[in-house]
Amino acid sequence: MIPYGKQSIDDKDIQAVLDVLRSDFLTTGPKIAEFEQSVADYVGVEYGVAVANGTAALHCAMNAIGIGPGDEVIIPVFTFAATANCVIYQGGTPVFVDVVPETLLINPEEVERKITDQTKAIISVDFAGQSCNYDRLQSISQNFGLYLVSDSCHALGAEYKNNKLGSLSDLTVFSFHPVKHITTGEGGMIVTNNNDFYEKMKRFRNHGIDLDVNQRQTLASWNYQVTELGYNYRLTDIQCALGLSQMKKLPLFLEKRRKIAAQYDEAFCTLKEVTPLHVNKDILHAYHLYIIRIQKGLDRKKIFEKLRRDGIGVNVHYIPLHYHPFYQKILSYKKGNFPVAEMVYEEIISLPIFPGMTEADVNTVINSVKASIECN
Ligand SMILES: *Cc1c(COP(=O)(O)O)cnc(C)c1O
Repeated sequence: MIPYGKQSIDDKDIQAVLDVLRSDFLTTGPKIAEFEQSVADYVGVEYGVAVANGTAALHCAMNAIGIGPGDEVIIPVFTFAATANCVIYQGGTPVFVDVVPETLLINPEEVERKITDQTKAIISVDFAGQSCNYDRLQSISQNFGLYLVSDSCHALGAEYKNNKLGSLSDLTVFSFHPVKHITTGEGGMIVTNNNDFYEKMKRFRNHGIDLDVNQRQTLASWNYQVTELGYNYRLTDIQCALGLSQMKKLPLFLEKRRKIAAQYDEAFCTLKEVTPLHVNKDILHAYHLYIIRIQKGLDRKKIFEKLRRDGIGVNVHYIPLHYHPFYQKILSYKKGNFPVAEMVYEEIISLPIFPGMTEADVNTVINSVKASIECN
């Protein structure tokens, strides 16, 4: 089976982890700040806060901007559940908006339509690894006095108008799950240029304690205060060492992903039954996912099942959030509310894309897509 995504781990990654295991610190040691600096430098921002996973990172971001009961946060309906859940963890209300059919990115006009007096923030999702339109989103957030948070879990290394995602929003979140661009097993990070957010998130990931163990060590003091409710969302030195080693290969990983996408593009441009998601001008794609739309009238389910039988680990990203019973129950959404997401959801298939794919793997996928369409 060729999976839709997979980590790439080499001997240097393994050595980096072994070195930490033999060192004095398995957690709250020197690798944390090193990894944070490495990601912050890469995307061109001041601060990074490493946490246990991308979902925890989103939760930290929602806490940093003070989301609480009564606050509304606008999010695209086409995303992973964590984008909505992080708002609910804080007692806030996620407000879903429809997406642009060609790209599955949040539709800025729909965002404006859903803004109320309760709206406090927008979470943009750089879907599949493609940057949202940040000129539009920044101007909307400025005009309405909203925070702009980016769920860029698909988009480490993506660019908008030659800027890496990370510096274009108040807070930007990345995930280091094995299917993402780099991995720490589980892991996540929030990057920001805002010092207050940075300090607040560092407390939030550590039980709401004002001084971390290193600061107490420096002060030769046992004293600390819990100043607010926090969680244990820390990432370990073992994971950060892996992350640091992976960061060195990120440019290569991105190059590989873009090359595979180019091969798919070329193969499908003459195939009228298959339309890849549209790629906007002014952006550089990070290709976490490569998604095709199957022509209307063809049976997506049959094509999907044939691909799986051929050993292609195809997937569907995502089931629109308002189809899930939990959100229907607590937010009263129902089928029919988001016509674009609902239509495109019936047509999409995610094809395998990850740096370790060989030329032969890519050709196997392409041939299998062609064969599954012919027998449809
Ligand atoms: C991966 C992902 C997350 C968070 O993932 P974790 O598994 O918690 O690291 C959040 N949002 C989106 C869109 C994602 O793809």
